[in-house]
Amino acid sequence: MNTNRNHLRIFLLCAIFCVLGMHSCSPDAEVLDTNRLAEAFEQFREPSLTQRRFGYATIAPLIESRSSLFENQILGNSVEGRPIHALTYGDGTRPVLLWSQMHGDESTATMALFDLFNFLEGSETDAFEDIRQKIRNELQIRFIPMVNPDGAERFQRRNALHIDLNRDAIRQSSPEAVVLKNARDAFEPDFGFNLHDQNSYYNVSGTTNPATISVLAPAYNEAREMNPGREKAMKVIAGMNRVLQEEIPDHLGKYNDSFEPRAFGDNFQKWGTSTILIESGAFPDDPEKQYVRKLNFMIILNALYEIAAGTYETFPVDDYLAIPDNSSRLMDLIVRNVSVTTAGHSYVTDIGVRRAARYAEERRYFQGTVSDWGDLSVYHGYKELDATGLEATAGKVWEEEKPLEELNREEAFRLLREGYLGVKTSTENKGKLHELPLLLLTGEELPDLEPSLANAPNFFLVREGEYRYAVVNGYLIDLQNPGSEAFRHPVN
Ligand SMILES: [Zn+2]
Repeated sequence: MNTNRNHLRIFLLCAIFCVLGMHSCSPDAEVLDTNRLAEAFEQFREPSLTQRRFGYATIAPLIESRSSLFENQILGNSVEGRPIHALTYGDGTRPVLLWSQMHGDESTATMALFDLFNFLEGSETDAFEDIRQKIRNELQIRFIPMVNPDGAERFQRRNALHIDLNRDAIRQSSPEAVVLKNARDAFEPDFGFNLHDQNSYYNVSGTTNPATISVLAPAYNEAREMNPGREKAMKVIAGMNRVLQEEIPDHLGKYNDSFEPRAFGDNFQKWGTSTILIESGAFPDDPEKQYVRKLNFMIILNALYEIAAGTYETFPVDDYLAIPDNSSRLMDLIVRNVSVTTAGHSYVTDIGVRRAARYAEERRYFQGTVSDWGDLSVYHGYKELDATGLEATAGKVWEEEKPLEELNREEAFRLLREGYLGVKTSTENKGKLHELPLLLLTGEELPDLEPSLANAPNFFLVREGEYRYAVVNGYLIDLQNPGSEAFRHPVN
């Protein structure tokens, strides 16, 4: 987007408002500088939140220790009795509601909200007080940082009743959904921010970039019509788009706007709140989503300021409509043009792998699956290998049981180069995590190691009898240049 044009547009509109006496046009009623937003994050980041997975116990002290600028209310309790808090800030008249982690494993925006609380409590003498003052004077902001604390405890989407709260806006069979609906009815917000995470496979259509942030002004009816409330949400998003295009060009996607009658966002829009959906996606080499957290902080602060200052109104709806759609064309690994022989038939295929997060011993690991097989030219891999001239073949299993503690990285690579993809270990180790670049198997149930769509992504890539690469649990390993990549796999 052309930023200068936007500045000009804002200036002209501001000038018109001033002449007509319609709007307070102090010099601070301009768009915020993106670098300033980034600096504010670095200064106010909440240091105790460093990983995506945390539960209510982690945020409870951060809620209790808020200054008197915040009013702390318990709106109700989760199924398992964990409090659902609301923090209210500001002396203004315009109500704005933000709610996060309705899905327990979607915590990126929650982290950013605690950064924002620190920011809002910042010193009156620092460089950001003009922003705070504007927000505090114009808005009354209510934050619900963790709608689904039971889901957060398990780091799962659904609540303790296995209900997806975002499909429970109407029936309200979950206490958490009742809390959120009551919060809306009691507060009647003009603006609502519905804060989520999306999976890492969304890309910005027409590019190979991950949709690091996706946005939506949800529809309020099946026909996806426009109304003034939805248009306001679009304008606020257009203002967020300005920040993101400066910070990470072409990493913003627009979420599908088909109407979901059971979802909160769509219903908030229908109930008269201008609703903004933010979905935190992936950014390369940011597994704990700390950079995406920063982006959340920047765009939420920017949006609150623009609502307070009224500058969001200067953005045309067309800027929102021009944001490219989300697409789902990313995979973790694509091995292209590999030769395979299946049931005596030799052919060339691409093999696409995705890896899902799992937890064991409170630590995260990833479980690879072959997600597609065939011509994958329309997909993009975070990692890709052109395997022209290489053949995918099954690995062998070293049948003589080796204790876990006797295996090391060098030994593992030696076995891989000899065609062993798996090693048997004792059954006591089952489920334990290890950091070796091969499969550790208890022998209870040996996996099928044929390269196939139906099997886990464990195979070798061979050229003229040489084991050139291994794919282990969906991770590509170069056997000539092993590198130092760390692995974490469970003993199977
Ligand atoms: Zn979600």
